[in-house]
Amino acid sequence: MSFPRQLTSVQSISLSELCQQYGTPLYVYDGEIIRRQVARLQEAFSGLDMHIKYACKANTNLAIMRLLRSLGVGVDVVSMGELHMAAQAGYGPGEITFTPSGVPFEEVKEAVEAGAVVNVDSLALLEWFGETYGSEKPCLIRLKPNVAAGGNIKIMTGHRDSKFGISVDLLDKILEIVERYSLKIIGLHQHTGSDIKEASAFLQASEVIFEAARHFPDLQIIDLGGGFKVAYKPDDEVTDMAHLGAEISKGFQKFCQSYGRNLQLWFEPGKFLVSESGYLLVQATVVKEDPARTFVHVDSGLNHLIRPMMYGSYHHILNVSNPEGNPSTYNVVGYICETDTFATDRTMPEVRPGDLLAFLNAGAYGFTMSSNYNARFRPAEVLIDQEKAALIRRRETMDDLLRSQLDLA
Ligand SMILES: *Cc1c(COP(=O)(O)O)cnc(C)c1O
Repeated sequence: MSFPRQLTSVQSISLSELCQQYGTPLYVYDGEIIRRQVARLQEAFSGLDMHIKYACKANTNLAIMRLLRSLGVGVDVVSMGELHMAAQAGYGPGEITFTPSGVPFEEVKEAVEAGAVVNVDSLALLEWFGETYGSEKPCLIRLKPNVAAGGNIKIMTGHRDSKFGISVDLLDKILEIVERYSLKIIGLHQHTGSDIKEASAFLQASEVIFEAARHFPDLQIIDLGGGFKVAYKPDDEVTDMAHLGAEISKGFQKFCQSYGRNLQLWFEPGKFLVSESGYLLVQATVVKEDPARTFVHVDSGLNHLIRPMMYGSYHHILNVSNPEGNPSTYNVVGYICETDTFATDRTMPEVRPGDLLAFLNAGAYGFTMSSNYNARFRPAEVLIDQEKAALIRRRETMDDLLRSQLDLA
């Protein structure tokens, strides 16, 4: 399937009818695209014992997690909140990995007690893990490979100055702690960043991990993280999964041979699995012909989709109501009382007040990063799968906004 140039329906469900039924803004997900992405990844690594652990911070809707689980995909969580949501979606303890980032050790303890396997991300946590569990509980170690990869500096996580993981330069210290507590290290992990399109970045980081792996005799798993890039624009370059799969598989098989045993290869993508499946549907409210430029205001904002303002990320916008309109150039802006720009100088079919617009690539880091800023309700969500649309989250109400406030009046 190619990048959509027009969009009026998903599977056979009309988007304007969905919006009439559930209102706007509305998150809509296409289950077929999630199935396609899982299949792509599985096919690319079909020669290996490859396991996918969905990085669910991308989208924690229970229906999405249930769908992924039904496709044989495990889950990677970063908090106890996510762990509980994954459990609610049917994930058993053996299927959950916990990849914390400097969290209180109490939280790690809770995760271990819930049966999750932990990616240890600091020497301090490794020391605590040793003191607390010794050889009793196996764990993985998250290494920082000192490889700069990813779409921009804000979403890189494996470079030298990143806070994530334990630097491979500290391998001696790691080994000393492992030995002192007879820790059972069953896996090495790395995650170098997001929007990585070059296979070379993965290969470079994997070489660092393979090299370190020689020092750990009990390994069962090499986890190469997530971060595969998807298409944001027509003709955008993406991670060539078949090429990446072939290249990594070659390196991995060679590594397993020299290690002396076949290990499992894990990936934990978020974006790759769900980004393209999601659309944020909004309505154009006001078209403002300012002398400087023309603004399209929509009934949503950075409270519902913060990626453009947070990372400068690009979301393609399709005019669902007027796909054949004459092209015109707009700044598309939200209704939040802050600078709230979705798109600058964007040429698209003429937008008229009331038109329905679709933001693409809204399936990952869309709803999960949304907020109630400006006391706005978060949108409803709909999953379309096997030609059926299901409401998978209702729109919020005033009661939701007031629920945790203690009104002492
Ligand atoms: C966020 C995250 C991922 C997923 O990144 P994507 O770019 O969405 O694939 C994977 N692993 C870890 C540890 C993460 O924090």
